[in-house]
This record gives sequence, structure tokens and C-alpha cells, in this order.
Amino acid sequence: MKEVESPVLHVDSDNWTVSSLSPSFGKFDPRPVDKLQAHGLTVQFINPAVGPESLAHQLAGCQILIAGTSPVDDDFMALAPQLRMIAKHGVGVENIDLAAAAKRKILVTNVPGAGSSAVAELVFGHMLAVARGIVRVDSQVRHGAWPTEIGFGLRGSTLGIIGTGRIGQAVGSIAEGFGMRIVAYDPYPSDAFAQSCAHYQSLSEVLRTADFVTLHVPLSDSTRHLIGRAELGIMKRTAILINASRGGIVDESALVESLITGGIAGAGLDVHESEPSTNQRLFELKNVTLTSHIGAYTHDSLARVSDDTAENILRLVNGNRPEFVVNEFA
Ligand code: NAD
Repeated sequence: MKEVESPVLHVDSDNWTVSSLSPSFGKFDPRPVDKLQAHGLTVQFINPAVGPESLAHQLAGCQILIAGTSPVDDDFMALAPQLRMIAKHGVGVENIDLAAAAKRKILVTNVPGAGSSAVAELVFGHMLAVARGIVRVDSQVRHGAWPTEIGFGLRGSTLGIIGTGRIGQAVGSIAEGFGMRIVAYDPYPSDAFAQSCAHYQSLSEVLRTADFVTLHVPLSDSTRHLIGRAELGIMKRTAILINASRGGIVDESALVESLITGGIAGAGLDVHESEPSTNQRLFELKNVTLTSHIGAYTHDSLARVSDDTAENILRLVNGNRPEFVVNEFA
């Protein structure tokens, strides 16, 4: 990997201001904010909905931006003329214009790994909830019914993992404990994962053979609608699809059609094509569980995500290269 150009590290660091667009940065554990303040940094929280004029005022003296999920595009960066670093409070950086940041010589970092186990655990929450009808049965029991729900078991079933990076592999290690057979697709397969538990196949083979399919790929132009009508069409009619990556990976209207017509049996979605989701057709379906992009939201995981974000910032402030740099520029 190329070294990041040194001028980034030569900004006068006497009076750094850190602006956080992520409301969850340090929200449940004040230590990351305390740590930045102990190093003399000013930390302020910013609501991107306030409009450009107010944002420009608030960002005028900001050198470091902590990004959440709201867009950070070229126009946004133009509001912060002193900006030198965008520290993503999370992994996915599809909401940040990396090319614009590189052009402006703004370093972008993220914190891969910090939330992986939390996301992987939520995947199993959705899998079990959909396969056993837990949410549906819960609601009926509360209304005085006592339904006999016959579900699908995990043991002995085949799990298809699309994208075997940090989260995909964390899902795989939990799946082993459930006694699932693991098939996987990734254009860059992991030898270690193949040796430990996964059998790599083509995307269509995985979709054709898996009882559960779970998605763990980054959103980009090449992965948008990776799962559309054609892909849903080759999945088993008894299959369950889980998406805890990004909403845009799945064509949501094709998914709704497939769920209504019995193309697949069910779905568990933590992420949605538009967030907050307003997809009423999806809300009406009983074979779906929905969460509000809470994959990484456990107390311990959020504390790690915030702490690693603060560490990236402090490394830059102290003249070092942050551990997780996403963009490179010459
Ligand atoms: P990672 O970079 O470790 O792994 C991503 C993997 O996807 C890589 O192995 C890559 O080769 C693979 N990949 C890329 N294009 C692919 C394609 N077309 N088909 C199959 N595989 C492909 O990332 P990660 O830490 O495992 O995170 C994965 C994604 O999960 C993130 O990009 C983010 O969007 C999402 N995420 C969601 C939450 C949540 O709250 N639900 C939290 C964290 C991350």
C-alpha cells in the first residue's frame, strides 16, 4: 500500500476541532470523547439536517470529521475548508466520496473489525427469527392465540455466505457451532476460511444450493442489486435471505415480489434500500423480520467502534499514520 502524502500530517495541530456527524460516537461510553479532549481536541456534535448555511458556520474551523451514515460528498467537504481527515465511525464508506476527499487531500479512515461479531450475531438473530417464526408467534401469543408453528432447523442445513471478509467469516465461525454446512462466494476467497470450514463456489451455485443466504459485501457500483430478480429466481423456494450489509445490495422490490409469490420462504433485513425504511409492501409481509440498521449496536461493539475511531484520530494528531486508511492520494 502506498504511503499517504506527508502534508496531511503537517497541519498545525495546536487547535484541532473534531466534528461528529455520528450521534452514536461515544454515546454509551464517554471515554473516546474524553480521550480526544484530554489531548486538547475540541469535540462537537453536528446535525447534518440543519442546512448548508448553518453547517458551513459550524464546520468553518473543523479539521477532523467523524462520519456516520449521512452523505459526505464534495459539496459537504467544501463547507469545511480546513478539513484534513474524515474518520468513519464504522466500516462501510459508501456514503463518503473517496475521490473528492483524495482530490482535497483529506485522509479517510474506518474501523474494520470492531463491530464484526455484533453484526454476525444479529444475522443469527434474524435467521432464527425467520426460520422459527419467532416474531409472528410472539405477536399471536400476546393476542391470546397458541399457534403450532413448524419452522426450519439450522443444524444440517446449508448456509451460503456471500462476501467472506471479517463479518462473513465471523458468521461462518458461529455457523459451525450450529452444525451448518458452509458454502461461500467471494471474488477474493480466503484460503484460511476455505481450510477451516467453507466450500467456495460460484455465486449462482451458492444461491442454488443454500438454505440460508447471508450477504456481507460492501456497497459499490459493482455490488448494487447483486441480488435481484434473476438471483432470487434461482434460490430454493424454502430459502431464507439475510441482509446485514447494505440495503442497496438487494433489489428490494424484486425481493418483495419473491416473498409474496413464494419464490423464497423468508427474509431478515437489518439494512434497507432507503433508511429509515418506509416500504409498506415489505411491512405487510409476515415472513420477514426487520431491524433498523442495528448490526453493530451492542454496548461492547459500539464502545470498540468509538474507541478505534478515536485512536485513528489520535494517531494522525500525533503525527503517525492511522491504522485503517481507506483512500490513497499522491
Ligand atoms: P470486509 O472488507 O472485511 O469484507 C468484504 C468482503 O466482500 C471482501 O472479502 C470482499 O472480497 C468481498 N466482496 C467484494 N465484492 C464482492 C462481490 N461482488 N461478491 C462477493 N463478495 C464480494 O468487510 P466487513 O467488515 O466484512 O463488512 C462487510 C460490509 O458489512 C461492510 O461493507 C458494511 O457495508 C456492512 N456492515 C454493516 C453493518 C450493520 O450495521 N448492519 C455494520 C458493519 C458493516
